[in-house]
Parts: sequence; structure tokens; C-alpha cells
Amino acid sequence: MITRQPPRILPANEGAATSLTHAGRGPGFAEGIVNPPVWRASTILFDNLAALDAAIASPDKGLYYGRRGTPTQWALEDALTGMEPGAAGTKLFASGVAAIATALLAVVKTGDHVLVTDSAYEPTRLFADQMLKKFGVETSYFDPTIAAGIEALIRPNTAAILLESPGSLSFEIQDVPAITTIARAGNIVTILDNTWATPLRLQPLALGCDISIQALTKYIGGHSDLMMGSATATQALWPHLKTASYRLGHTVSADDASLALRGLRTLSLRLDRQEASGLSVARWLEAHPAVDRVWHPALPSHPGHAIWQRDFTGATGLFSFVLKQGRRADTAALIDDLAHFGIGFSWGGYESLALPVDLPSVRSVTTTPVPGPIIRLSIGLEDPADLIADLDAGLARYSAQFTA
Ligand SMILES: *Cc1c(COP(=O)(O)O)cnc(C)c1O
Repeated sequence: MITRQPPRILPANEGAATSLTHAGRGPGFAEGIVNPPVWRASTILFDNLAALDAAIASPDKGLYYGRRGTPTQWALEDALTGMEPGAAGTKLFASGVAAIATALLAVVKTGDHVLVTDSAYEPTRLFADQMLKKFGVETSYFDPTIAAGIEALIRPNTAAILLESPGSLSFEIQDVPAITTIARAGNIVTILDNTWATPLRLQPLALGCDISIQALTKYIGGHSDLMMGSATATQALWPHLKTASYRLGHTVSADDASLALRGLRTLSLRLDRQEASGLSVARWLEAHPAVDRVWHPALPSHPGHAIWQRDFTGATGLFSFVLKQGRRADTAALIDDLAHFGIGFSWGGYESLALPVDLPSVRSVTTTPVPGPIIRLSIGLEDPADLIADLDAGLARYSAQFTA
């Protein structure tokens, strides 16, 4: 009978890349096979009434029912828990949005108030504005750079603060410790969407957050063929997260968990490459005459650069840049004929993407007046020189529209 052991806690003296090779490979999950096999299951059979009753008494101890997972899902959960010091457990979800929605539902009740960063991923805002509202939970938004100023926005009924750093599309860096210190003093739960950084670049629980979320769809999957989310919680919040997840019936397939585990094994390698290539492209763009500014927290010109340097251990490959002139419709000349950048949602795959961004439509309390359109780039694993040559030709096509 397979029993579930506590996840491996990563030794402090071990490098992240080394840890990723060990993560989630719990004893008994694979019978000596390197990777846990894809254990598909709904029904788990018990030998007799005594075994059934023992399982009912401790359903988390081993195999129980398919919705509670098999060693394939457990391996992924344990790997993600093991990557974050201070974590007690991880739940998996069918998407990043499901992880965010469930984490919020786990900590709020009717009559509560939540504070959400104005730079949050748009579907996070829609969940708060539409679903939480329906259940009598009020949401207000705050400037992502507010830091300790958040104290003035806290109400007696504020139950949770949702952070995301860097912010979606505009990449503001938040002062996470300043916010979590104030939240802890007021018994307010903090949830951070860590999809951009992954635990290899930012460790939210170590900075005082209670729940850290990832859209595994992005860098963990890494190959644009997987939808999944995760929420990792501290000891105090873990029972709440786990219960909310069970009550809402969340589960992921063993096949998908196996795919995510495969992505995890190369995460360090991919992020190092995407970080380096992204910085090459970002620096090149910053010096280009058609570009007004580049929103990349690892550039010294970024307003949040000092905080990014303090809290993060590196960057990844997603950032935006602003053009000096033109309108959104004009960006067709830039992006339509790029050879190495696809046009599409999501990011974090091995292939590069370029996406025009409409910022004002997804912000309510902050405005960043910029002269021209905004383009978000997800830098993949291509040779950076090819990406730069591609963008160079694209920017020449773009600029030619205004000189004719
Ligand atoms: C993509 C994304 C999500 C949602 O992930 P899905 O798996 O697409 O639901 C959440 N947060 C951020 C920051 C994202 O970029």
C-alpha cells in the first residue's frame, strides 16, 4: 500500500537546480522508476472493511479516491511545496485562475473586504468584481507601489490582500515585506500571484505572504501545452486552502501532473536562458530610437529596480516596452510579420510571443500616461540575436509608417 510521506524539505546549502532534480521524488511513489508513473484513478479498492475504515479515518495518508490524487499529483504538489521555505502544502487546480479564485474563497466570507493590487491579472479582477461581489465581499484596488501606505486602505473588515509582483502587463514591483508586515499585524491574509518569478526567483512565503500562487500553465509547463495552477500555503493557512479546494471539487489529471513535473525538471535551465535572452532584447530595445521605455524590473531604469534587487534572485523572460508614437492599430506593421514571435495569449513557453497591450482597460486606480502603444514580449529559447534582428526589422516597418 502506498502511503504519503511528508515532502522533502530542501537543504539550505543546496542549489535550486540541484533541488529541482530531487523535488517530489518521494519514496514509494515510483518503486525505483525515476519518475512517478501516470497513475490514473477514480476508484481505489480496499482489501476489506478494516482497510476501508482505516482510510476513512485518515484519508490523506494514502490512496483514497481519485479526486484526492495519486502519487503522480502528490509528486507535483510535494515538489512545489519543497521549493518554498515556510510552506506546509500545495493544491493543484485546472488553471491559474482556479487557484486564485479558490485561494480567495478560502479566506473570505460575506461582509468582508479585500484589497487587490491594481496591477493584477485581469481575470483576477473579474473574479473579485463579479463573483466575490455576488457573495457580499467588496473589493478595492490599490496602487502596486503603495508599500506601507496600504495601512490607510485597511478597513475593519479587510480579510485579504492580493499582490502580484511584478504586475501583469506593466511590471510594477511591489514592496512585499512592507505590505505583509502590516497585514500580519492586522491578521489579514496575503496572497501573492508568483507566476512571473516562480519560486526560483521569488519566495513569497519567506517574505511574509500566507499563500503563493502560480499559473503552472506558464513557466512550469514551459511548452505551451498545459493548463494548470497551484496554491502553496503556510501551516496556518493550509487547512483553509485544502478544505476550500476539496469542497469546490478541484482536481487535475495524472497525465497533466506528469507533464508539469517534466516541465519542472528543466525550469532552472529554461529560466536562466530566458532571463539572459530577455535582458539582451530589453537592453537593445531600450537603446532603440522608436522605443520610449522598457518595463523590465532588471533594468536600472525601472522604478522598482532597487526593490526587485532586494527581494528577487533574478528575472525571467517576460516584459513590455512602450513605443514613442502611433496607435494600437499601427502595431500590425511591427508584429504581423515577425518571424520568431507568435501573437497570442499566455506566455512562458519555449517559443517567443509578442502581444499589444491595452493597459487603461484593466486598471482602475493607477494611470501610466505613455506616448504610444505597449507591446508585451515573452522571450523563448531562440537565439537572442535572431530575436533582435526580427524586432529590428519590425521596428523599421513600424517607424516607416510615420515618415511616409
Ligand atoms: C496566465 C496567468 C494567470 C492565469 O493562469 P491560467 O492557467 O491561464 O488560468 C494568473 N496570473 C498570471 C500573472 C498570469 O499571467
